[in-house]
Amino acid sequence: MPKQEDRCSFCGRSRKEVALLISGMSGFICNECAEQADLIVKETFQKKRQADSALGFTKEGLPRPVEIKQFLDQYIIGQDDAKKFISVAVFNHYKRLLQAAEGDKNDVEIEKSNVILVGPTGTGKTLLARTIARMLHVPFTIVDATVLTEAGYVGEDIESLLTRLLQAADYNVDAAERGIVFIDEIDKIARKGDNPSITRDVSGEGVQQGLLKLLEGSVVNVPPQGGRKHPEQKMIPVNTKNILFICGGAFEGIEKRIAQRLNTRVVGYAAGKSRMGIDRDNMLQYITPQDLKSFGLIPEIIGRLPILTYLQPLDRNALRRILTEPKNAIIKQYLKLFEMDGVQLTITDEVLDYIVDKAIEFKLGARGLRSITESIVMDAMFEMPSSGEKELVITLQYAKEKLEKTNMMSLN
Ligand code: ADP
Repeated sequence: MPKQEDRCSFCGRSRKEVALLISGMSGFICNECAEQADLIVKETFQKKRQADSALGFTKEGLPRPVEIKQFLDQYIIGQDDAKKFISVAVFNHYKRLLQAAEGDKNDVEIEKSNVILVGPTGTGKTLLARTIARMLHVPFTIVDATVLTEAGYVGEDIESLLTRLLQAADYNVDAAERGIVFIDEIDKIARKGDNPSITRDVSGEGVQQGLLKLLEGSVVNVPPQGGRKHPEQKMIPVNTKNILFICGGAFEGIEKRIAQRLNTRVVGYAAGKSRMGIDRDNMLQYITPQDLKSFGLIPEIIGRLPILTYLQPLDRNALRRILTEPKNAIIKQYLKLFEMDGVQLTITDEVLDYIVDKAIEFKLGARGLRSITESIVMDAMFEMPSSGEKELVITLQYAKEKLEKTNMMSLN
């Protein structure tokens, strides 16, 4: 049998047909295929490098949902469901950005996973959004939906929402386009009443329509200095396609709607069972997009906020943990402040319980913990840097004395 001719394993041409045939362990490559391969390698890596540098992270470096939640756990007490939902949403959001950056047009298109957080005020909605942004090192801004009104009315234009994001990104448009916007009090732009009004609804449906444009991803002309648009101002175009929007709202009274829906649904054979399984003390956990609609959000907005989750009211135990456990817990912050003046501060457990009691008594929630603590240590913070004393033990009696001097109403 004649010896088989050596051929390039890629293009199949024989040694005679090419200038050079390089042999490998079990095959050959010709000079032309080698050049082609080199080009492919360079192009691929260049694309990947571009994608990575534009995003600031690689696929491998992207934190997994479990890791995202662990990070959130360091700063936020409880709210496990919300943390889980948001960890997955953020993970998917950044996978989506990687996919877009890699530029495969034929791939399945991953839709944006904007988030809506429903829960009483002061339960950690803003903190969640802020902590996520801190973890991802992306520009972050908080805007209040209540200041927005339809174009033509007094107030700020929808586009100015993005001005703050641009400012947070030092006017780096690329960075801003990967940022996170937390829209607080989204419930305040709900349509009043269930029927679409014939007159213009200043703070309702029109604003929701405007917001829709931002949420779904479009190029928006942003006034760099914010405020209302005026003709001389040069606009900065910002594409919202990859901006993650996290909306938050208390949706006061929505529990009743949830209860109503659950009650009306319980007809038929499953009635008894579902009624029994309902945990009446925490109705928010059953929230569905339908409840947001009945509260007055338009279906298009709800559709653009596919991740819906809830935050629970903070109980005594949670408040107590918030005082000392988070990485930047309030008490840790005061210990540090005193330590910087060379003062060793001790706060007894009794005092910590007392602070929590007062926050509950005056319905101040988690926000009140800081203001109450501040009132207790205020005098010491004023005097000790000059007094030369090196130790302060805050006892229950000390705390009571200091707090009694404070007008509790002013703490809210
Ligand atoms: P919301 O946005 O829900 O109204 P925030 O996130 O602004 O509430 O919470 C107000 C403050 O209360 C936070 O800055 C934080 O200090 C504290 N806080 C609220 N909820 C939590 C929580 N679950 N864990 C730790 N701290 C919390």
